[in-house]
Amino acid sequence: MYLKSIEVQGFKSFANKMKFQFHNGITGIVGPNGSGKSNVADAVRWVLGEQSAKQLRGANMQDVIFSGTENRKPLGFASVAITLDNSDHQLPTDYSEVTVTRRLYRSGESEYQINGTNCRLRDIQELFYDTGIGKEGYSIIGQGQIDKILSGKPEERRELFDEAAGIVKFKRRKLTTQKK
Ligand code: ATP
Ligand code: MG
Repeated sequence: MYLKSIEVQGFKSFANKMKFQFHNGITGIVGPNGSGKSNVADAVRWVLGEQSAKQLRGANMQDVIFSGTENRKPLGFASVAITLDNSDHQLPTDYSEVTVTRRLYRSGESEYQINGTNCRLRDIQELFYDTGIGKEGYSIIGQGQIDKILSGKPEERRELFDEAAGIVKFKRRKLTTQKK
């Protein structure tokens, strides 16, 4: 499985619709300070369900919507779609390509989709359990996160190992069953 593309529109500094395409290898994103490199990582975090505006370096969630510049008006919504190659079926779905989309309007209305079909945030989280990709996964290591892992509580560190060992979905299922 690998990341094939990220499509952004109205997300942070990306007013115009634009698509980043990747290959099965290493890609570096370079550019001057403030040009939007970190915003690309924020886009991935956001589409995977990040609910904390602070984690996305904003005060509230609407801050991810393009807020305008001197010669461009603010936009009414932000949208991010990531497409993963799933031909090895690491993700538990028959699709060999999976596109996850998240959209947020200034009104606060939001939607999530998997391959164009509306879904709940929970469906996205479940799709990525135990893959290391979810927003709690280790596929995005943000600034300061290494420190957090090294100096974190044993229980917090355990979560990372559970994810790598592939047992998160069983733990979640157990919790859900116990609640019923
Ligand atoms: P550095 O090299 O300093 O880490 P960077 O390339 O990672 O820089 P980012 O932090 O990704 O840069 O981008 C910051 C830019 O994004 C700032 O210019 C900021 O004004 C812009 N930005 C963030 N949110 C929005 C928004 N909602 N609307 C418009 N622009 C935004
Ligand atoms: Mg940066």
